[in-house]
Amino acid sequence: MGLSGRRLSVRSVQPGSAAKPYLCPGCEGVIPEGRFHLVVVPEDEPDLRRHWHHGCWYKEGRRTGRTPRSGSPAVPFDSDSPL
Ligand SMILES: [Zn+2]
Repeated sequence: MGLSGRRLSVRSVQPGSAAKPYLCPGCEGVIPEGRFHLVVVPEDEPDLRRHWHHGCWYKEGRRTGRTPRSGSPAVPFDSDSPL
């Protein structure tokens, strides 16, 4: 899916709000229920929102050379932190 060129809204999902597991498109792994993560919403197509591991989203941002838009950076990114 093409994220490039889109305006994205990135929000954090607190553990208490993560009511079910999601599939992360970055690593194709599961984000378990109750895990802090990010939801990335294309502003023009909110239905295409995706849930990402925190680390995967920032890796994706570096890989594609785009700086992730951080509307609400709930936590500072630490590339070495385990997920
Ligand atoms: Zn992931």
